[in-house]
Amino acid sequence: MKKDENKPTTTDAGIPVASDEFSLTVGPDGPILLQDHYLMEQMANFNREMIPDRQPHAKGSGAFGYFEVTKDISAYTKAAVFQPGMKTDLLARFSTVAGESGSPDTWRDVRGFALKFYTTEGNYDMVGNNTPVFFIRDPMKFQHFIHSQKRRAESGLRDNDMQWDFWTLSPESAHQVTILMSDRGIPKSYRHMNGYSSHTYMWVNAKGERYWVKYHFKTNQGIAFLTQEEGDRIAGVDADYHRRDLFDAIKRGDYPSWTLKVQIMPFKEAETYRFNPFDLTKVWPHGDYPLLEVGQLILNRNPSDFHAEIEQAAFEPNNLVPGIGPSPDKMLLARLVSYADAHRARLGVNYKQIPVNRPKVSVHSYSKGGAMRINNISDPVYAPNSKGGPKADPEKYPEMTIWNASGDFIRSAYTKRKEDDDFGQPGTLVRKVMNDIERDRLVSNVVGHLKNGVSESVLQRAFEYWHNIDKDIGDRIVKGVKG
Ligand code: NDP
Repeated sequence: MKKDENKPTTTDAGIPVASDEFSLTVGPDGPILLQDHYLMEQMANFNREMIPDRQPHAKGSGAFGYFEVTKDISAYTKAAVFQPGMKTDLLARFSTVAGESGSPDTWRDVRGFALKFYTTEGNYDMVGNNTPVFFIRDPMKFQHFIHSQKRRAESGLRDNDMQWDFWTLSPESAHQVTILMSDRGIPKSYRHMNGYSSHTYMWVNAKGERYWVKYHFKTNQGIAFLTQEEGDRIAGVDADYHRRDLFDAIKRGDYPSWTLKVQIMPFKEAETYRFNPFDLTKVWPHGDYPLLEVGQLILNRNPSDFHAEIEQAAFEPNNLVPGIGPSPDKMLLARLVSYADAHRARLGVNYKQIPVNRPKVSVHSYSKGGAMRINNISDPVYAPNSKGGPKADPEKYPEMTIWNASGDFIRSAYTKRKEDDDFGQPGTLVRKVMNDIERDRLVSNVVGHLKNGVSESVLQRAFEYWHNIDKDIGDRIVKGVKG
């Protein structure tokens, strides 16, 4: 598309300018005049073009599309977005985690899978990953975990020793590390990976009945991956490989899509399930909780301004609509606070007024003022009031996503259940889900990573860690590293 064809250039205030080429000087060879406000405006704007990277998930790509419900799951949730036949506009953003905004797309990493549904009941965000689990289960460790994946203080370098040091001292990471080191650690493209809520959420139906739910967005393009060698090579040739793939596919009309399936656990069953179903390092086995189909997610429109629509997109798992709520997953509970806080820090307090973040329904809040406020408000500015301001409607919108809790105020791990352990599920993945070739690549990926700057004491712990996941894989990793 041509930009403003045949229109005279103006300043940002719409004033026509005299030149795109020459600054205002005293004679052709003289000094530049301070009164050249157009030059000043361009220099000042340029200096402020960049906004802070997300910390983490800085490098990402996004597109618009819609979600269409194809099955009837209204028995489990009354959320309008999931009612039969409903079609809802959405924004998706995919990302790597540890790399900065210019980093290669094909580095081994978990991928973010963030969605914003512009529903008839306000924005609903799901901020998931391409993996069904996470490295840790308590948010107190999150900041430390991310630090260990990023750069060292002294050298500014990433460091495998730091990564394995953290992982091996945090055995709850074993499941996610196994997935990360498997073929799923470098997807072929964003189109060829699944998305998972990872967290458990609560669903409430129209009768007020509660369920626990996990989301699985299964790629209709099929799972595909890059080997470590392919990923390394492409990283040097085209750092934006996944961004380009997504943009080009949508541009040529090859719209990527995913089938949403959910696992549903009846509310009461969570109390006595054999392991803690809210532990983010675990999946619910499909044998116990089969996948139920919900609908289709289709991406069919590229952004027209990457900065405005993708860089400034703000996803927050606290955007939960009636019929959907949080669960006692401690990681999720912390994310309900930290995401909005990150957006306020990065984009400013009125980030929800940036067009891409605006709901498509009207907003009737009492928020007021703040930098970059765009929406006009009018009186009254307080509640309760007798002046005709908006009023909460507890009859129509009661607090429904609730559960019981009691106990002393303590800092503690979750209460252990009979089958709560760190190595069982990664062991199952390695032994029962992967085939021989996939296991070979897993061993090769781990060996390559461990051979790259990991100190002897950390290496010994890494060997023990892999032996705990699977004796045979552990032996092969020791042999691969030690020769
Ligand atoms: P199933 O045999 O029913 O499911 C196995 C799952 O593993 C499939 O969903 C498959 O996804 C996925 N998978 C295959 N290769 C990999 C890989 N390299 N990394 C991550 N996932 C992979 O078994 P269960 O439900 O009993 O689970 C067994 C193990 O499978 C779990 O311990 C867990 O590690 C893994 N898993 C389970 C999931 C779940 O929600 N139950 C989800 C994802 C993984 P796909 O069909 O897309 O190929």
